[in-house]
Amino acid sequence: MTAQLLDGRVLAKSIREDLKKARQSLGDAPVRLVSIEVGQNPAAAVYVRNQLRAAEDVGIAMEHIHLPVSAGEAELLAAIEERNAHAEVAGVIVQRPLPPGIDPRSVQSAIAPGKDVEGMHPENLGSILYREPALPPCTAAAAQQLILSTGVDLRGAETVVVGHSEIVGKPIAVLLLHHLSTVTVCHVGTRNLADHTRRADIVVVAVGKAGLVHGDMLKEGAIVIDVGINQGADGKIVGDVDFDSVSAVAGHLTPVPGGVGPVTVAMLMRNTLRAAGASV
Ligand code: NAD
Repeated sequence: MTAQLLDGRVLAKSIREDLKKARQSLGDAPVRLVSIEVGQNPAAAVYVRNQLRAAEDVGIAMEHIHLPVSAGEAELLAAIEERNAHAEVAGVIVQRPLPPGIDPRSVQSAIAPGKDVEGMHPENLGSILYREPALPPCTAAAAQQLILSTGVDLRGAETVVVGHSEIVGKPIAVLLLHHLSTVTVCHVGTRNLADHTRRADIVVVAVGKAGLVHGDMLKEGAIVIDVGINQGADGKIVGDVDFDSVSAVAGHLTPVPGGVGPVTVAMLMRNTLRAAGASV
């Protein structure tokens, strides 16, 4: 089998079309998204550029603020607090990575839950256990959207999520549980990863290790969502799956780049519109 590519750019564009309508339903007042970066990081620069582009397309006024790399946690928290208190700001995002000495958890917890458009405040993360939250973590929601775009019936389908981080692996597992998929979470302590991935109808890989999953670890026709972003040997960006061997076995596969990434940005815009009061 040669896998059908799940093109994240195409899916993101169609999601943005729906978001434009939702944006219009909010009227003429600006919908403001404030992004804060401490220092300057080349990886963050790419994300910010993509976010700014998507925001402009949808009609969200995104403002990107740079704090100097010398800014400590107190200065960053003060900048967040100022936006929390500003009625016109719908959403706040803090770009990663943060410089050493700033605790990402304290920062995420400082953003008002209703403005936490990355969906990483403990209140938003916790509400996933009860139901699909209004502001889910963007990457987890993107993986969910890509899986649903295949038309697969998730009820009873075997899903294996590889990676158990708070912002990606665990929320993906719980979101898919809401669809009544039978979900297994594998991680650094899993004894034989291939024993699990080989029986899965859907495999989501979110680890950060290039080439971790090979075609011989998969069932023929499986849906494979590659969340990983790694620097390949030649400097190119690659995912966590070995593209050549996996695309020969999988039924559907997300490319890297151009898979989960663009849909993640679309989910950030969706969360911003939801935070501004849109039903979308
Ligand atoms: P993380 O470092 O927080 O977590 C890595 C996870 O991988 C852990 O749960 C660990 O248990 C697991 N793991 C490590 N080695 C393993 C092994 N040999 N077998 C099985 N599991 C193993 O990483 P993260 O923040 O969850 O990010 C994971 C990847 O996803 C990274 O490459 C990151 O850059 C990427 N990412 C992509 C997007 C996107 O929008 N596309 C967003 C966030 C993260």
